[in-house]
Amino acid sequence: MQILMALAGNPNAGKTTLFNQLTGARQHVGNYPGITVDHKEGIIRHRDHTITLTDLPGTYSMTAYSAEELVTRDYLVNERPQVVINIVDASNLERNLYLTCQLMELGVPLVIALNMMDVAKDRGIEIKTEVLEQLLQVPVVPIIARSGFGKKELLDACLRVTAEVATWHPRDISYGEDLDTTLTELIARIDQAALLQDSYPTRYTAIKYLENDDQILAKGRKSAPDTAQVLEEIVAKASGHTQRTLEVFPEAIIADHRYGYIKSILRQGVVTHKFDTDRLYTSDKIDKVLTNRLVGPVFMMLILFAVYQFTFSWSDLPVTWLENGFGWLGNQIEHTLPDGMLKSMIISGVIDGVGGVLGFVPLIMFMFFSIAILEDSGYLARVAFMMDRIFRIFGLHGSSVMPFIVSGGIAGGCAVPGVMATRTLRSPKERMATLLTVPFMNCGAKLPVLALLIGAFFSNNKAWYMFLFTMLAWVVALLAARFLRSTVLKGAPTPFVMELPPYRFPTLRGLLIHTWERTYQYIKKAGTVILGISILLWALMTFPGLPEQQTASFEQQRQEILHSISPTVVAEIASGANALSPQATEVSTKLNQVNNEENEAKLQHSFAGRFGILLESVTRLAGFDWRTNIALIGGFAAKEVIVSTLGTAYSMGDVDTEASESLGQRLKKDNNWNRVVAVAALVFIMFYAPCFVTVICIAKEASWKWAFFSMTFNTVFAFIAAVAVYQVGMFFHLA
Ligand code: GDP
Ligand code: MG
Repeated sequence: MQILMALAGNPNAGKTTLFNQLTGARQHVGNYPGITVDHKEGIIRHRDHTITLTDLPGTYSMTAYSAEELVTRDYLVNERPQVVINIVDASNLERNLYLTCQLMELGVPLVIALNMMDVAKDRGIEIKTEVLEQLLQVPVVPIIARSGFGKKELLDACLRVTAEVATWHPRDISYGEDLDTTLTELIARIDQAALLQDSYPTRYTAIKYLENDDQILAKGRKSAPDTAQVLEEIVAKASGHTQRTLEVFPEAIIADHRYGYIKSILRQGVVTHKFDTDRLYTSDKIDKVLTNRLVGPVFMMLILFAVYQFTFSWSDLPVTWLENGFGWLGNQIEHTLPDGMLKSMIISGVIDGVGGVLGFVPLIMFMFFSIAILEDSGYLARVAFMMDRIFRIFGLHGSSVMPFIVSGGIAGGCAVPGVMATRTLRSPKERMATLLTVPFMNCGAKLPVLALLIGAFFSNNKAWYMFLFTMLAWVVALLAARFLRSTVLKGAPTPFVMELPPYRFPTLRGLLIHTWERTYQYIKKAGTVILGISILLWALMTFPGLPEQQTASFEQQRQEILHSISPTVVAEIASGANALSPQATEVSTKLNQVNNEENEAKLQHSFAGRFGILLESVTRLAGFDWRTNIALIGGFAAKEVIVSTLGTAYSMGDVDTEASESLGQRLKKDNNWNRVVAVAALVFIMFYAPCFVTVICIAKEASWKWAFFSMTFNTVFAFIAAVAVYQVGMFFHLA
């Protein structure tokens, strides 16, 4: 028989661990349509039954407060799984049962998996499962998800429920006299109009009305406007009453009664503490140090620094492998395909573009791996807790800290994993504000540009200026977040409800699965659109090509050079030997010169070049000429392209890092450049539109609307700032 089963529970209750234990490798990750909450499904075979198990997002509650909670609720009412496993952390029963309570109110057929029995035992907590089962009237199976203990019994209990329970049985909990009376009144009206009864139990809808649940209110208004209005009036009256008499909203009373219900159950001999209850557990002892007001931040800096080192230094090797791999591939094509458009497109458009994106993969894997360690061990919650007070001032949340660090908050990083790391934020507006401001950090791709310009124009004080620009990035990002949170993302801050889970030793298996899931999503998401865009950028910088006579003139110059020398030297150059005679070196330098001039002419003549020239009238305000403009347009593909495009535009041919010194010298000598222009350019480059991979990630994580917003908002802001720098600088003759 086919059975549909779902797994629900608080974050950190061990859901993923149990899911992996039950389904093994037979699982499949996707996304719920339209939002970025993971949808994970796996197959279990147990006693001739085939069970499809869905891992619901971890939630503490089932209000309409976050995407996760809505997904959980919608899944249950729409898909109607035959049984729901509610995984509960036995070492933290009271808090975990809050969700259980709401599942029972919804009425889904339930089996409670009482997890972390080992932890509970270590802490001297003894739980009488039979008593709990009897009081809740729900099967309770003790398990240890990590070792697989109890998993057969759990599946057996599930099968019993599917065989015995055919319909939903919503549990009635009393919410005190006032609200119970109102509920009765609401229920009568809902029954009369049969409002939403194909999805929700009547009493459940009534409770949601009292809780002021946005989603249910909207559904009610849509399906029966008249009844909905009556219901809302009844609720408004009741709410007015509780506010006058008790100074609270009905939601708070409902929550209180749920906790009361749980407490009353637990007090009936379910839990006994073998040890003295206020004994300090290991976790608390560790917290005495790690979240200490003075020492805590020091440890935090050290740990974050370690993450940073691990992510950006250790991934060097695999990143180089990948780069070499793509370089090799390019070389193969260079030698096999005939010269021409196709070759140029495959090398510059396809391989460089896709390679650039896939090149991030090792970095992202290392980053997600370190985040997984911090997350699974429970430390990430502490970092968020400590940072919350500072971030709150800027309309952000403690959990925003990780995305900022990952995006380059210390120096070098990447906004792509940064954007993806915002998933730990629960409130949509705080998440959005974080997601839109992390691209302001100085990612690894901006560093070569910073190094180039600072090196050329402020060579006596490099480290200091680097530090200054890192600080500037933070100040701008936080102020921008504040600005967004008081305008387009206006809304109250969410309270810091994140519970500090006890420290635990992460398992390698869990870490690897977490890392792989997230990396795979990056590849899938970023990979789909990239090919098109990188080919487009290539085309913009290649077409329409030089007019024939100009190409011919460059060819003629080359021929002239070659004719002026002896055939042996020509042969020597053609042989491609590494060590050339002085004469041959001189000739090939001359030839390169011509090639570079041709490249520059081509670029100027290309669509991107024309666009650059067209923009010059505006960008002059910030001191940028058309060459800089092309480099900035190219920088949208990836910020490191700025250096190489500047190189081409200032006819330096291929510019690698060693040669960038000389590009710096070149810029320094150029009439268009000076210190003020350099600072204006730096400011612009730091803050203008994120690179397109980041933009695509923003689009996938939020929506295209927000992706466009981020491009325009950042570019306009960066331009205003650059103009201000340039105008003020020139006015005071700082150049
Ligand atoms: P989720 O957030 O609900 O998916 O929780 P996870 O499955 O990621 O588990 C959180 C942490 O608890 C991980 O470090 C697990 O290894 C650990 N864990 C899960 N189940 C058990 C258990 O039964 N005993 C112990 N000691 N640790 C567990
Ligand atoms: Mg999980």
